[in-house]
Amino acid sequence: MASTSRVFRGCVHPFRRYLTPDDTHDLCVLCLGEEHARDVLEGAICVHCERFSMKKLRSRLSLFSRKEGQPSAPHGSGPAAAEARRRMSSWCLQVDLADEFWEGLSFSRSYINGKQEIMKWNGWGYSDSRFLFTKKGQAEFTGKRYRLSGLILPSLKDWFEGTFGANLQHRSPATPSLNLSAVAPPNLNQPFVEDLKAAGLVVSHDPEDRVFRAHGTELTSLCLAESFQKIFWFHLFMFYFIFHLWEICCHSDVEKIVELACKHNVCLIPYGGGTSVSSALECPREETRSIVSLDTSQMVNFFFSILWTSMATDNCLITHLNEHGYCTGHEPDSMEFSSLGGWVATRASGMKKNIYGNIEDLVVHIKMVTPRGVIEKSCLGPRMSTGPDIHHFILGSEGTLGVVTEVTLKIRPLPEYQKYGSVVFPNFQQGVACLREVARQRCAPASIRLMDNEQFQFGHALKPQVSSMFTSFLDGLKKFYITKFKGFDPQHLCVATLLFEGDRGKVLQHEKQVYDIAAKFGGLAAGEDNGQRGYMLTFVIAYLRDLGMDYYVIGESFETSCDALPSLLHRCALSVCRPLVTQTYDAGACVYFYFAFNYRGLNDPVHVYEQVEHAAREEILANGGSLSHHHGVGKLRKEWMKESVSGVGLGMLKSVKEYVDPQNIFGNRNLL
Ligand SMILES: Cc1cc2nc3c(=O)[nH]c(=O)nc-3n(C[C@H](O)[C@H](O)[C@H](O)COP(=O)(O)OP(=O)(O)OC[C@H]3O[C@@H](n4cnc5c(N)ncnc54)[C@H](O)[C@@H]3O)c2cc1C
Repeated sequence: MASTSRVFRGCVHPFRRYLTPDDTHDLCVLCLGEEHARDVLEGAICVHCERFSMKKLRSRLSLFSRKEGQPSAPHGSGPAAAEARRRMSSWCLQVDLADEFWEGLSFSRSYINGKQEIMKWNGWGYSDSRFLFTKKGQAEFTGKRYRLSGLILPSLKDWFEGTFGANLQHRSPATPSLNLSAVAPPNLNQPFVEDLKAAGLVVSHDPEDRVFRAHGTELTSLCLAESFQKIFWFHLFMFYFIFHLWEICCHSDVEKIVELACKHNVCLIPYGGGTSVSSALECPREETRSIVSLDTSQMVNFFFSILWTSMATDNCLITHLNEHGYCTGHEPDSMEFSSLGGWVATRASGMKKNIYGNIEDLVVHIKMVTPRGVIEKSCLGPRMSTGPDIHHFILGSEGTLGVVTEVTLKIRPLPEYQKYGSVVFPNFQQGVACLREVARQRCAPASIRLMDNEQFQFGHALKPQVSSMFTSFLDGLKKFYITKFKGFDPQHLCVATLLFEGDRGKVLQHEKQVYDIAAKFGGLAAGEDNGQRGYMLTFVIAYLRDLGMDYYVIGESFETSCDALPSLLHRCALSVCRPLVTQTYDAGACVYFYFAFNYRGLNDPVHVYEQVEHAAREEILANGGSLSHHHGVGKLRKEWMKESVSGVGLGMLKSVKEYVDPQNIFGNRNLL
């Protein structure tokens, strides 16, 4: 751990940004203003600025060129007392990342303000990235962003048609563009809007802005937005009330908004990256007040030490941390688009939780603005014995209590060495037994995931065209070895993908330990490439759902955690779903279930899907599974909350809500 006596000071008036220890100004760069930053860069004398390098002066000036719509500069809020006391002598590795972080943040702008320009309005992810079948019937993945991009996938068509009975002649294409004139006007609370404007806050009523922020990515929302015209109109009705508030860039702005919302009795829905899969972002149908989507994605505020940030989409967070040699280690599959505030509000889990922990393990400090006031702890101590942990009222609160405006997260230096791996098992049961043993011996790699045979076949269908005879020959040999020589049945074998991280020596040792355990369960090492491809699949699988929707196939995944995995997996309502074990614990595991079907000829496919998920969820709960391991409850699963946490437990949560938000300003009606 590095240690130094450098002290950071907050700029006292008007308290916006921190002053780094080598800065002898009394005011922060923002309070000093653009002219000052420009003058000193051009050579004007300032006894304070002359100690800075040209790089730093340039970086300071660039803060101002960024202010139009880009993540505005941090206002330096936070637990003021703790900040002032924070020292470089703390136990944590302390790093001043503030200035460097601003460099190169420009891409956030395109994501945040031009979200609709680069992302699909009617499906998952980037507009330029999608699976499609060419006129020749060959599958390809477009764009340049992923490992699969630009590649031909020769086996996908057969897999797709064979698995779902789909036919490429039968198309159900998505509605290509949003009919803006069909979006009903917002239900404005004019005095509220006037007060917001007077406070210098920017509001958008733009129909596209509203539509984009009025739903998550659960199947029901996307179907509404994509193919099913009838339901789509109904969904537009829900957009009727919403208007969208953007350029929320600091804690004090949020405080003002919440104060005004209370004054004018307006409903607020915090919005992070919009990747929710629990209908958490949908506007409640019964709400008659103005609904405001509070887009927090501009709240970017990096600080020293532990990373201090508000709601940076991970695009900023992870990429920039990595560029500076650090990581949070929190990598949910949605990490390209989800936000830190969303992670906290949903109790998210990342695939490397074995090393870094889930979000609740990574969080050091949280600050949330509620109608009752600001809630936060007074210090950054690693543990407190002061009654129930107030962070745990915030973690998983799903936007029902307030807006998370600041989070202090642990960060770590990037691992020196990373290695993927994979193991083939003769069947799923043996794979599960191996994962259990790995958990029991507490030697799980950063990530270990087990996919069943059908997912293995799916992974195979996504193999790109091989470029050389040699690769094709090698693939054939491996297949021959596993199926003929070792006698694995291709219809039953399954695969675990592995990711090891750490220093090289330890990784190699660790790898050996895991492969040794796997061998005891009949597992055969199946190479790094298969492992790496397995992880890549997790980032493109949501795109595959959109391809299905173009050909009458709808699908969705849902997850749970349980202690008795083998018995759960055999329940009949679940046997129509394909399981994927994604996380292991001392006392159980997290399982995803994938479910898709061809809906051609069905009147109401979404309803059919909902019935299947409902039956599956009942089965999960009846067998000791949780309502959710990490996706949260939202509106989709709240009917089971009482069963999950007991009547008294639910009553406790409701009384917290009543105390914190008596007017139900955060009225998204999730969870409770
Ligand atoms: C393809 C795909 C893969 C996924 N993989 C994972 C995974 O691996 N692990 C995982 O945990 N989840 C996963 N999810 C689910 C989703 O990404 C998470 O729930 C994520 O944490 C949501 O973050 P967000 O920023 O998109 O929040 P949003 O979707 O914008 O909001 C989610 C909820 O949080 C509330 N909220 C958002 N920001 C704030 C804030 N600042 N203050 C208060 N409330 C707020 C909202 O009101 C809403 O109730 C996945 C989803 C998809 C579509």
